[in-house]
Amino acid sequence: MIPELVYMYSYEKLLLENKNWAEEKKADDPEYFERLSHLQSPEFFWVGCSDSRVPANEITGTQPGEIFVHRNVANLVVNTDVNLLAALDYAVTYLKVRHVIVCGHYGCGGIKAAATKSDFKPVLNMWLRNIKDVIRHHRDELELINDEEKRIDRLVELNVQEQVYNLAKTTIIQRCWKKNQRPDLHGWVYGLKDGLIKPVFEMKAGTHIDSLYEYDDL
Ligand SMILES: [Zn+2]
Repeated sequence: MIPELVYMYSYEKLLLENKNWAEEKKADDPEYFERLSHLQSPEFFWVGCSDSRVPANEITGTQPGEIFVHRNVANLVVNTDVNLLAALDYAVTYLKVRHVIVCGHYGCGGIKAAATKSDFKPVLNMWLRNIKDVIRHHRDELELINDEEKRIDRLVELNVQEQVYNLAKTTIIQRCWKKNQRPDLHGWVYGLKDGLIKPVFEMKAGTHIDSLYEYDDL
């Protein structure tokens, strides 16, 4: 850490660390920013949890420019979420990503909260309701798990799986599957305790889902 950081407000430290970072990057590779500013062609679109402990680039050893990222509480794909859908459309249609990754994490506060009966007031209740639907959908399997931590861990995995399904239900994904045979969809779970990512679900481009959700006039 730089010595003068001790006397600063926390947010000022961020700005100074940023200057430091930019200088180090430039020293390593003088063309670094010039190159990145002209081209963005990531291969991956990432839907992750907003949790500060799960930074997409850091845990995957990737650099700026390699992953197009969207994050929200408990990494949900909600079909009325214009923010998520705009990012998805841009990534799939314009950046032409080859893989979409939904990455949840064990110990997710959003998932834990949704499994309780607590009232978190309207906005959070609305958001967490989507996870309660996942619980109801998989109630039989979840109720067989007696250990609470293990049950929540499994819910984290099932939530990721359902969000991958939700991606496949969108016309954005279905149209791209039909026309370009991409992207593949991946469901991953990150472990806060060991730093490792576990792949839990995958859907290759063109996979058929319940025909109720399939559009034939894309
Ligand atoms: Zn989380």
